[in-house]
Amino acid sequence: MPNHHNKYNRILLKLSGEALMGEKEFGLDPQIVARIAQEIANVHQLGIEICIVIGGGNMFRGMSASQQGIERVTADHIGMLGTVMNGLAMQSALEKINIPTRVQSAISMDTVCEPFIRRRALRHMEKKRVVIIVAGTGNPYFTTDSAAALRASEMNCDVLLKATKVNGVYDKDPMRYSDAVRYDKISFQDVLQKDLKIMDTSAMSICRDNNIPIIVFSLWDHGMFENIMLGQGDFTYVH
Ligand code: UDP
Repeated sequence: MPNHHNKYNRILLKLSGEALMGEKEFGLDPQIVARIAQEIANVHQLGIEICIVIGGGNMFRGMSASQQGIERVTADHIGMLGTVMNGLAMQSALEKINIPTRVQSAISMDTVCEPFIRRRALRHMEKKRVVIIVAGTGNPYFTTDSAAALRASEMNCDVLLKATKVNGVYDKDPMRYSDAVRYDKISFQDVLQKDLKIMDTSAMSICRDNNIPIIVFSLWDHGMFENIMLGQGDFTYVH
């Protein structure tokens, strides 16, 4: 499988927990997880090295739980554990379609998955294993978006792909305004200046400072992930 034609050799995909939820109000929908796994498998077949940072918003959000009385740091620990559940579900779905994977957690959990070790993660990817990175940064007060930005920087990824419900970044909410216009390309500076919500500001600044471009795209358009990797399709490129 030649990968020297690909525009990208190593990518990081950020999947939010909500992406795994489907029509449910909570938790994950195995059918949706299987669908996303297939999209990932198609990109894997291009010979691209893939790591995935997975969120946990479908399970638990530290911030909102702390507003309801759970101490913030503990609430964030619970939130991070939620991402581990999602990561294991994604591993199972990928392995079912014969994609070798490893889950690495920022909070060590030896009997369940590997700890996050950068060199080992890089080696897995060289061997074309998909690395699923869970438990965020391992620290409270952060988000999995920041974890994605951090790991993409640490592992010299060519790009961070942020999967959302819409196919890019718009000048206003496309769900509410029919005349909203999608940006093909936009600079980090403009994103901050226009206060466009892509990822939280700490995630954005990690990407900007380390020259990691972000592709915002929709994982719901079947085949779009693969198309984008082939240099086609609809998305917004943040640089
Ligand atoms: N979290 C954390 N530190 C991290 C990443 C996540 O404490 O480095 C916690 C935080 O409580 C957060 C929850 O894990 O609310 C789920 O992660 P996130 O909200 O980023 O998930 P997503 O929105 O991507 O589904």
